[in-house]
Amino acid sequence: MNLLIVGSVAYDSVKTPFGERVRVMGGSASFSSLAASYFTKVSVLAVVGEDFRPEDRAILEDRGIDCSALKTVPGGKTFHWKGEYGYDLNEAKTLQTDLNVLGTFDPEVPESLQEVPYVFLANLDPKAQMKVLDQLRGPRVVAADTMNYWIGQRRDDLMDLLPRIHILIINEAEARQLTGEFNLVKAGHKILSWGPKMLIIKRGEYGVLKITQDSIFAAPAYPLESVFDPTGAGDTFAGGFVGYLAEAGNLNPETVRRAIVMGSVMASFDVEDFSLGRLLTLTRQEIDGRFKAFKELTEFSGTV
Ligand code: AMP
Repeated sequence: MNLLIVGSVAYDSVKTPFGERVRVMGGSASFSSLAASYFTKVSVLAVVGEDFRPEDRAILEDRGIDCSALKTVPGGKTFHWKGEYGYDLNEAKTLQTDLNVLGTFDPEVPESLQEVPYVFLANLDPKAQMKVLDQLRGPRVVAADTMNYWIGQRRDDLMDLLPRIHILIINEAEARQLTGEFNLVKAGHKILSWGPKMLIIKRGEYGVLKITQDSIFAAPAYPLESVFDPTGAGDTFAGGFVGYLAEAGNLNPETVRRAIVMGSVMASFDVEDFSLGRLLTLTRQEIDGRFKAFKELTEFSGTV
């Protein structure tokens, strides 16, 4: 089923212990839509500036992503994020956030997308995320992400958004920041009491926790020998997760578990190269192969 992704399309300047890239394409919508495009038909709603290179738009279009709602602001500059990772690749240090055209982004959902069944509100100003929901006619599933920047700057808006979404996907530091609880299970239940039916907590190289009112599911991250750039891993996870759910068309507990593993598979590919690199060359065969390896990694039998 069709999936609408709203988020940032960015130029990122990133430094990791293994190298540096300046003004390469990134953004929450870019990573998540590329990951989701391996599973379902994706439309992107986002904004860029006049400096956005046609070859970067082509990166999305070449994966079959509908970019008719990727708008260019005349005279504007594309959102720019500058970050750095130390040897602890789980934590990005944000050095600079230039909102540029994102600062005044007023998302307009085209008529043709207003009845879309699956929506992923990737990391973006929660006010803009809500504006998108205001224009949709009864989506079946709404998932949303956020980050420390918005929890700090737009907390009230974020609290207004929570009762309007089904699934919140955030990382562990964000779950703690949002709730003031260190314990993730406690933090999870607090967040669920604010509205979402399901919470997905991303824990970097430690994997993912899914928390609902009456269940918890944990998946590890795929153990990799070479990790170059974790930028976008969270967005890639979310894109793979929601894309798989949209392809399946249901939220059965078993489907959700497989979607979590598929998201983790996609994130494990993302970190193997800088920027969007690895997400452009994947084949479904490679994806399915790692899904199988994931299954073997966590399978055991017998009783106590
Ligand atoms: P992550 O999946 O958490 O590694 O997300 C990294 C991506 O988030 C980068 O490509 C950035 O362009 C994007 N990003 C960073 N800060 C923001 C922000 N405040 N709003 C939207 N996107 C952001």
